[in-house]
Amino acid sequence: MKRLSDSISSLKGVGPKKASLLHRLGILTLEDALNHFPRDYEEIKAAKPIEAVVDGEISSVCAIFEGSSRTKRAKGLTVTYVKAYDDTGLLECVWFNQPYRATLYKPDIPYFIRGKATRKGKILQMQNPTVESYDPRIHSVDRLLPIYPLTRGLTQNDLRNVIHTILDSIEREYIDAFDRLATEEYGLISKASAYKLIHFPDNLESLRLARKRLKFDEFFTMLVSAGYQRKALRSGITGKRISVDNIRVAEFLDNLPFKLTESQQKVLTDIYADLSGEKVMNRLIQGDVGSGKTVIAAAAMCASAASGHQSAMMVPTEILARQHMETMSRMFEKTNIRLSLLTGRMSNAEKSLVKRSIAEGTTDIVIGTHAVLQQDVLFKDLALVITDEQHRFGVRQRMLLRSKGEGTMPHFLVMSATPIPRTLAQALYGDLDVSILEGKPPGRMPVKTHLIPSSLRDRLYNFIRNRALGGEQAYIVCPQIENASDGMKSAEELYAELTKTHLKGITTGLIHGRLDPDEKEKIMERFAKGQIKVLVSTTVIEVGINVPNATVIAIENAERFGLAQLHQLRGRVGRGDKPSYCILISDAKDETTKARLMALVRTNDGFDLAEKDLQLRGPGDLYGIRQHGLPQFTIANPLMNMDIFTFAQKAAKEVLEKADQAGCRKIIEICLEKHNKLAAMSD
Ligand code: ADP
Ligand code: MG
Repeated sequence: MKRLSDSISSLKGVGPKKASLLHRLGILTLEDALNHFPRDYEEIKAAKPIEAVVDGEISSVCAIFEGSSRTKRAKGLTVTYVKAYDDTGLLECVWFNQPYRATLYKPDIPYFIRGKATRKGKILQMQNPTVESYDPRIHSVDRLLPIYPLTRGLTQNDLRNVIHTILDSIEREYIDAFDRLATEEYGLISKASAYKLIHFPDNLESLRLARKRLKFDEFFTMLVSAGYQRKALRSGITGKRISVDNIRVAEFLDNLPFKLTESQQKVLTDIYADLSGEKVMNRLIQGDVGSGKTVIAAAAMCASAASGHQSAMMVPTEILARQHMETMSRMFEKTNIRLSLLTGRMSNAEKSLVKRSIAEGTTDIVIGTHAVLQQDVLFKDLALVITDEQHRFGVRQRMLLRSKGEGTMPHFLVMSATPIPRTLAQALYGDLDVSILEGKPPGRMPVKTHLIPSSLRDRLYNFIRNRALGGEQAYIVCPQIENASDGMKSAEELYAELTKTHLKGITTGLIHGRLDPDEKEKIMERFAKGQIKVLVSTTVIEVGINVPNATVIAIENAERFGLAQLHQLRGRVGRGDKPSYCILISDAKDETTKARLMALVRTNDGFDLAEKDLQLRGPGDLYGIRQHGLPQFTIANPLMNMDIFTFAQKAAKEVLEKADQAGCRKIIEICLEKHNKLAAMSD
């Protein structure tokens, strides 16, 4: 008996070659194969009598092949004719360049023959029909055949066979407390049936029921886990009361070179209410790229310092940490609040100096990378933790911070530039309250976005050359580092090409994720200082980087990126006072893809784009949700399937409320285990 966690290569008929093709689709285990859902279905009609076949229609018949065949050669083509018959008539099958068909079929056994029928005079013909041994259980009824996302070298039949084989052995694996709840209490079909029917549905209605169950499971698991963790995080834990000193905060704000926008003030009010309240703060600030989140973080830390506590701000990279340190040092210049930087790249001597001041309380604000979370960093009095652009800073990491607050939990503020519509955010981040920072500070020039075909690349790169000669800087982004296929440019190729042609004599850099972190930092620093004029890169530059002198970003094969990602990339320019450009290069013909790219051309607003993206895209990695360390949805889409979502929300609430009952506890455990598995995968 096979287990779902068995590797795919343990399956009969899957050798090393097929296994490696399946791996390419992300299918490592039998369960992965079951979760590789069809992207569409082909309707296969039941076999009908040959005399009932209509000219010009795709039809299926059940027939017996005549022993004899003939093969013709013409114009380098072999044409093979084999006749088949049933009680009602005769059908001639024709194949081109497949002479083996002449002897492939046994006489006297029935076959299921399917293809487009044409009447040639008196003779009914099918050209290149598909043939399978006739199985009355399958072929005598209309059915839907799955069409899977494939990779080169793998056929639909390969996948159908693999999944068919697995489906026979799953019956017992999915019977658990959760399954019983879903079927008995909520009237859904069993998980095992759902898997069978999503791959091989009897009809549209059974397909609908299968999808409903699978979508429910995704929502329910996510909602139960988030709800449970929210409770666990908050139960019995209080935050350090921070009494916000309005006068000191006002002084700080007065010293800034600008006035807070209305929206910034509103968000800050939310934060101060949390800080001075009973409960520990767990708040998400969502604001588009460039909406001015940094100053909000600073104002929150100012309040913490003014009431005598420490705070820490964490960012994903060294570069961002240094950048924030610089910005904040300027903001706090006229105060007596003390800031320190703590990153992995500092020397041990530097680090221990900073750690000492953190432990002694002579540092009020620490800005750094994950180094701040390390065990040997002991705070005297940590009251507030802020993460910026740390999408994967999940519940687990927050639990770690608990230990740094000695029984109290520091207040927690997450800042994210990936806008998700508010209702969705609240539901998805079950464990966070959400504040939205709307609009942008006044006076910002929108980035001009254009979509161009690759035939205009020469002009584009000349344009970039001229900008660089005029002292401005540019990013060029490619989807892949090396060995790009089918006409795609890789970062390495493009770098090699451009430095010999359009960008000859212009200091150009190459940066990608495979460089070691030190190397990356050095290149970024040189770019930030203006020593490198043009940077060819992969998406490593996506988040947070601020080089105001960069005014152009060109994105090769733009169709390869998600809208959220493109918007983040675009956010790298338009940060100074010069007009900026984002040029999307794409030859995509597909209407949906073009619509996605045009959405970017039409709007600079991340929230508008998020909505648009949800409309255009089916389920999947919804607007970069995976980046947030949340499980991505494979089949459910929280905006499109609102009804199932609401249903799952009610169900999750019921189970969480009865968490003290053994049955419900078991269900919660199942959800948490699943959730953790998914979260670990996306880490
Ligand atoms: P993000 O939300 O992407 O982190 P930042 O905090 O980096 O945005 O802010 C972008 C720029 O806007 C910074 O240069 C910052 O100084 C400026 N800024 C922020 N708030 C205001 C404001 N109220 N008025 C004018 N400029 C502002
Ligand atoms: Mg920022």
